Amino acid sequence: MADVHSKKVRSYNMSRIKGKDTKPEILVRKFLHSKGFRFRLHAKNLPGKPDIVLPKYKTVIFVHGCFWHGHKGCKYFVVPKTRTEWWLNKINTNIANDKKKEKALKLSGWKVVHVWECGLKADKRYKILGSLILKLAC
Ligand SMILES: [Zn+2]
Repeated sequence: MADVHSKKVRSYNMSRIKGKDTKPEILVRKFLHSKGFRFRLHAKNLPGKPDIVLPKYKTVIFVHGCFWHGHKGCKYFVVPKTRTEWWLNKINTNIANDKKKEKALKLSGWKVVHVWECGLKADKRYKILGSLILKLAC
C-alpha cells in the first residue's frame, strides 16, 4: 500500500526534530542576542537540555514545534490521518516528557518559558518576542 503522503510528512517532521538548530530556535536566539541577552545553548547539565538557558535570569526557554509537542488548539497541530495512533502515541510521549522536564526544572528553581513555533510566524513574532522579554524582566 502506498503511503506516500504520510511518508513525506514523516520525513519532514523527522528532519525537524533531529536538527538542533531549527529555524524558530535561531530566530529566538538572534532576537535575544540583539537585545543584549547572553545565554547558553542545550545545557546538558539541566533536565531536558533546554534550548536556550539564561543563567542570569534563572530562566530556560524551550522552542517547541507545534506538531511534535502537540500545541493545543493550534492550526499547525494536525494529526496525520494515516497511522494516527502511532502519531498520537509519539506526540503524547513528547508532551509527557515536556511536563516532566518542566517540573524538574522548576523544582531546581528555574523559570520555564515556552515559545511555540506558530508564535514566530512573521505576523506574530514581534508580539511574542516582546512578551518574552517582559517575562525575563520580571
Ligand atoms: Zn502552535
